Amino acid sequence: MPQRITGHTELIGLIATPIRHSKSPMMHNTAFEALGLDYAYLAFDFPPENLEAAVQGLKALGVKGWNISMPYKTDIIPYLDEISEASRLCQSVNTVINRDGYLYGTVTDGTGYMDALADRGFDIRGKKITVLGCGGAATAICIQAALDGVREISIFNASDAFFCRAEENVEKIRANTGCIANAYPLEDKQRLRAEIADSVLLANGTSVGMGRLEGISLITDPTMLRPELIVTDVIYSPEETALLKLAREVGCPTMNGLGMMLYQGAAAFKLWTGKDMPIDAVKAVL
Ligand code: NAD
Repeated sequence: MPQRITGHTELIGLIATPIRHSKSPMMHNTAFEALGLDYAYLAFDFPPENLEAAVQGLKALGVKGWNISMPYKTDIIPYLDEISEASRLCQSVNTVINRDGYLYGTVTDGTGYMDALADRGFDIRGKKITVLGCGGAATAICIQAALDGVREISIFNASDAFFCRAEENVEKIRANTGCIANAYPLEDKQRLRAEIADSVLLANGTSVGMGRLEGISLITDPTMLRPELIVTDVIYSPEETALLKLAREVGCPTMNGLGMMLYQGAAAFKLWTGKDMPIDAVKAVL
């Protein structure tokens, strides 16, 4: 292997815990190599009590930028100098750019989702969508979709501790964008059927379908879907969740969460380097 790291190499980081499973280091290092950029991307896993010291350390060392994953996406905000509108509305930062000690934070999860749809030729602007969930991923999708001109969003969430976030997201969307938004309890299956029926897209933004919830889908009745409906999942492991399998069997176009992951990274890459991520080279290693 050629010696790539030198005294000039710039560092880009990723902070989270746990993080060793992340595809981001592979993704960004592949892109740096493909474009011949003298950067290296490393993951840092540390406990929450070290967050402030970690941010100060990255800043003091002049690290050019970093990604943030769970559980630090909200907790990092007080340590930054400025955040984007999307970050303010989502209360989430997944990308920091260090401009000579001035820390600017933004969130690229939502644009990542929209860019992944565009990559597949799907345009949801001016249309209605239904989103399941109101945690970090679902919030990023809803806020960005509203900022990008989606006409109407129906948000469904279980009546759990998260439900108030669905209501908060609705308030923020109504107050800050021209998008119509409503929140409903997931248990109201009749309402869910009706909202999906006049939506062009159904998005699962919950963790139902992976880990201990693998094999489970929030929609189990195929008659709630139709072949024209685009069905997406934020989950990419497994590659095909139970929801996407059901949708494929109905004949719906489907998209898993890999594209969202890829394009949130591409947006961060552009902010740090000013260059477009070589998507095909990165797709080949994902
Ligand atoms: P979160 O903890 O912030 O939110 C979890 C959501 O799932 C909430 O809406 C909660 O109500 C819902 N939920 C959990 N268990 C449920 C159940 N049994 N029944 C109904 N609803 C349930 O999590 P998050 O950070 O938003 O992540 C959600 C999923 O998105 C995870 O699988 C994560 O891996 C994935 N994700 C993907 C990307 C990507 O780029 N593709 C980015 C971020 C997150």
